[in-house]
Amino acid sequence: MPFASIVAQEKITAQLLHDWEKTQLAPANLFVGGAFSGKSTTALEVARLILCETKAEQCSCRACLMHRKLMHPRLFLLGNRYFKEEIRASLQTMHAFIQHKKAIPDAVKLLVIQSLRKLIRRFDSALWESDDARYKEAKGLTVALNELLSEKIDTEHEITAENLLMIEQKALEVAEILHHYVINIGQIRSLIHHVGMLSGESRVVIIEEAHLMQESARNALLKILEEPQKELYFILTTTNKQEMLPTILSRLRPYYFQERAPEEQKRIIQKVFRNNEIATLDDLLSPLPLTQARDLANRFFTSAQASKSIYFTYNQEENAILYQQLPAILSQVKERVLQSTLPYPNKRELFLRIDQSYLGARDYNQNPEILLYTLHKEIQRLCRKSEKSLNK
Ligand SMILES: [Zn+2]
Repeated sequence: MPFASIVAQEKITAQLLHDWEKTQLAPANLFVGGAFSGKSTTALEVARLILCETKAEQCSCRACLMHRKLMHPRLFLLGNRYFKEEIRASLQTMHAFIQHKKAIPDAVKLLVIQSLRKLIRRFDSALWESDDARYKEAKGLTVALNELLSEKIDTEHEITAENLLMIEQKALEVAEILHHYVINIGQIRSLIHHVGMLSGESRVVIIEEAHLMQESARNALLKILEEPQKELYFILTTTNKQEMLPTILSRLRPYYFQERAPEEQKRIIQKVFRNNEIATLDDLLSPLPLTQARDLANRFFTSAQASKSIYFTYNQEENAILYQQLPAILSQVKERVLQSTLPYPNKRELFLRIDQSYLGARDYNQNPEILLYTLHKEIQRLCRKSEKSLNK
């Protein structure tokens, strides 16, 4: 079923599927919505439909197989996204399986491959003028990264933690090159040149955060949008429609992605935490809703205070998610500590501990489950200590 993995955007995905089946898909589309609303996952699925050779459901044609690994040569990816967070989250998910000596599910492998290729494909030679400074800086690195990806991850051989670390370092280096990057005129020129050379064949251009574009690049893009070509599709995404050029907007068919309602957030969290199904990365990265983080933090603190064992235990898959959500949970634990009746020095000590846990996860890749366990013990100890001094 197309779009099956996209949660809580049924209206949009139904509309898109309808437009596609009735061959009414516009040549240029705009996906508007907040971060993590599923825009890019949806854009990729539309691209798959366009590039597919059989137009069948559950397709495994050559084009779809290439697309799954984001290797389709007629897919063009431009613009910025949260590369670092996404790559870290996917590698962390994979790492959890290695750590627990469990077979890595194909879905997790694909998650990693896609997160890395989203970055690597940004440096396709078709998308840059050869003397562009960023391109020159990244070229060798992305080639090496792509080789590592093919040899060490997209493989039947064993995947090791050392290789993951090596890949992460290389990927973060590449991602750094795109930090605060804005699409320039040279890129749009190269793109236009290359899609022109492939005319007659289906091509899909996805431009993320399309409002981040140099003035001259916008004008160049406008030109190509004004002269639609057969079988050439554009999908632009933005979190900030107001900053887009009105003349460009007038050329795009907009689709508005909804902010996920609390009820839908809950469904996502359930999908992530309860089923063994791996959600999309948008779902993994989506911040825990405040109420949910607060609730978890409350149970965490209360159970420690009562000297009960830790309330929530996670399995290894969920650990990776926990790692992403740790900042939200810890900041709520801090709130809870602040409201508690613990004496000031104990509060301060706990604050330090909480910060250490956060840094331990972020900088030293420590297992969040163990960090929380240790923190839980620490709260128990300090609560008991303050109780004793009160009873004196
Ligand atoms: Zn296909």
